Amino acid sequence: MRLVMLGLPGAGKGTQADLLAKELGIPRISTGDMFREALQSDTELGRQVKEYVERGELVPDSLTVALVEQRLSQPDARDGFILDGFPRTVPQAEALRDTLAAAGKPIDAAVFIDVDQEEAIRRIAGRRVCSQCGATYGAGAPEVEAGRCSQCGGPLVQRPDDTEETARRRLQVYMDQTHPVVEFYRAENRLVTVDGGRDVPEVLADILESLRPFGLDGRAGDAP
Ligand SMILES: [Zn+2]
Repeated sequence: MRLVMLGLPGAGKGTQADLLAKELGIPRISTGDMFREALQSDTELGRQVKEYVERGELVPDSLTVALVEQRLSQPDARDGFILDGFPRTVPQAEALRDTLAAAGKPIDAAVFIDVDQEEAIRRIAGRRVCSQCGATYGAGAPEVEAGRCSQCGGPLVQRPDDTEETARRRLQVYMDQTHPVVEFYRAENRLVTVDGGRDVPEVLADILESLRPFGLDGRAGDAP
């Protein structure tokens, strides 16, 4: 299946994308990882990305789309993929649609993990990271309560990006730029909405069930 993951920061999009990738046997393609790889690689696209990043400018849509196209043409994405962090704007969604239509491989469904804005802020602001090993712990984890990493014993800290103030700003950017992408896929009759306010396994089960009408027939691992 070719899927897009959508949801507020803090909705649990990355977690579900990872679980779905394992369940369906297709790669999770995160734009964050893609940019990091591009910055380290010595390719033409990588050099272009580096120029924008070093100037502290936003990478333009055309370049991001070119990177995604290149990544989707890799052999591991031939039978499907889960895009996480892209498309971020309606023009990017349109560019992706046109590219995939040309290849005859359109997006099957966009999975929107719906959570309340205040719940999303609570989750982001409650998140902690180990200052020694980098392990992250979600709001409400016993480690957060104890203030210590269970893997290395290091002290937990809050990332500057995760303060309530930053979380509110990120949510505003999301509502302005990315939320219209949800409406884009709704208009294409490709939108699956699941309630993200529940436990991780329940949300995953709901996503898998909701994808059946879009062509998910059993698990990829069962296919010959
Ligand atoms: Zn640690």
